[in-house]
Amino acid sequence: MLNIKVNGTKLQVNENLTILEACKDIDIEIPNFCYDERLVPHAYCGICVVEVEGENELVHACSTKVEEGMKINTNSRKVRSSRAKVLENIMCDHALECTTCIRTGNCKLQDYSNEYSYSIDKQRVQSESSKKELLPIDDSNPLFIYDPNKCIKCKKCFRVCEELQSTHGIECDLRGYQIDRRDELIEKIGKPECVSCGNCVSVCPVGALTPKKGEFYNTKKVRTTCPYCGVGCQFDLKVKNNIIVGVEPANGDSNKGLLCVKGKFGYKFVNHPERLTTPLIKKNGNFEEATWEEAYDFIANKFNSIKEKHGSSAFAGLTSARCTNEENFLFQKMVRVVMNNNNIDHCARL
Ligand code: SF4
Ligand code: SF4
Ligand code: SF4
Repeated sequence: MLNIKVNGTKLQVNENLTILEACKDIDIEIPNFCYDERLVPHAYCGICVVEVEGENELVHACSTKVEEGMKINTNSRKVRSSRAKVLENIMCDHALECTTCIRTGNCKLQDYSNEYSYSIDKQRVQSESSKKELLPIDDSNPLFIYDPNKCIKCKKCFRVCEELQSTHGIECDLRGYQIDRRDELIEKIGKPECVSCGNCVSVCPVGALTPKKGEFYNTKKVRTTCPYCGVGCQFDLKVKNNIIVGVEPANGDSNKGLLCVKGKFGYKFVNHPERLTTPLIKKNGNFEEATWEEAYDFIANKFNSIKEKHGSSAFAGLTSARCTNEENFLFQKMVRVVMNNNNIDHCARL
């Protein structure tokens, strides 16, 4: 363990952590745009600066390791003024449309700009941003949109696609932050290699990469398991008025914050108006709505009569890739214990 001081408080932290990670562990939030714990830190955005006693310049918390005896100030006047300048520069180059933006209420740029608003030169922002010529929105992907006017050039999307998804779906100019050449930084989303997984969309901290359909504001998160395959990716459903309006990947053991196109975008069936919401029992050739009790009684009676007439071997169970591993376990258990045979299989082998 290392002994450090953060904002005057003595602390013990694990070795090998960056300042940002050490502060996160003790619930001190350091603003960041380009940081992602799964990626090698690059300190592109410059907003995570902190003051370290003995250093002349501010240091990037995302890429500086803690050292024994380090005295760190995360909130000094110098730190706050430097962060405000970063925000001011971004906002000068930004389409300021918060009231109509899908990310309003769920956007790091909006949150930080509010927090640092008293140190931002609003007149400069207003004058510079109003002179910017709007660039065309790229809506070539069927599932998401890239709005270069809201891109803050953090390159998270590009790095996630390259380093984690390994698909190389985004062309990116790596020469660094160039405020007057924003159209060249992310030259093109959706190269032919793109598999529309949406992992770039999930990490974008602002409204530059957004799903074509969905909502962010005032949504409730519900953690669950993706229903599409046995990998069992964890994600948060975004729910509003009992309707699913989006999916965000969670850091599950098997998916580590990534999803495929089905998990990320294929949730519409849940609220489809034609989806069955009650059991149906066929009576006189027609399906009629029934309660769950009636349906279970009906199934149990049928099972018993078939078993009496034809024996246990008359049954087989076929389960689905859309079930979770736990549901598949329960189903095979029912076949072996209730149906009393080993006739159990899964649609993946059909
Ligand atoms: S991306 Fe954020 S800051 Fe930009 S318009 Fe949308 S909500 Fe506002
Ligand atoms: S959708 Fe997936 S593959 Fe396509 S650019 Fe984004 S991260 Fe890359
Ligand atoms: S699109 Fe989003 S994630 Fe990509 S560089 Fe721009 S702001 Fe960052």
